[in-house]
Amino acid sequence: MAEAPRDGHELLERFRRWLRDRHMPITRQRDLVAQAIFAAGGHLSVEELERRVRDRGHHVGTATVYRALEVLVKSGLVRAHDFGEGFKRYEPLLSPAQHGHLICTRCGRVREFSTERFERTLPMVADEMGFLHQRHRVEIHGLCRTCRDAEIGALTGGRRRA
Ligand SMILES: [Zn+2]
Ligand SMILES: [Zn+2]
Repeated sequence: MAEAPRDGHELLERFRRWLRDRHMPITRQRDLVAQAIFAAGGHLSVEELERRVRDRGHHVGTATVYRALEVLVKSGLVRAHDFGEGFKRYEPLLSPAQHGHLICTRCGRVREFSTERFERTLPMVADEMGFLHQRHRVEIHGLCRTCRDAEIGALTGGRRRA
């Protein structure tokens, strides 16, 4: 698996090159969506992405964002995730190819963690079951620290959430 670049600008340049190589136009909208997602670096929903573009002083419609994301995913520089929230989240290829996600079921915050310790064991588990391992993903759903603290605060009637 190719090593992921760590820089949003590098990804943007790679995306522009990818479009050029395929004789696909680098439209302003495509570029705005690409800039926003590569600069953000997180796991954004379409709605959040639209807001980021708007915050930069531009307007791109939802359908256009979807279309641009489709192309970005096809380029391999953006990954689409379905964390079972009823919508997809998009992540630029800034993190190592293999990482797990912690998804807060209350506020939707997504954090990453290293799955290094599983990278050998999960294929082994598959092998033990006579299963040919192709890929896996590690997801933990629960409450993030902020939401957990708020819950404890509410239960004890004490500490308020920051
Ligand atoms: Zn939370
Ligand atoms: Zn991630």
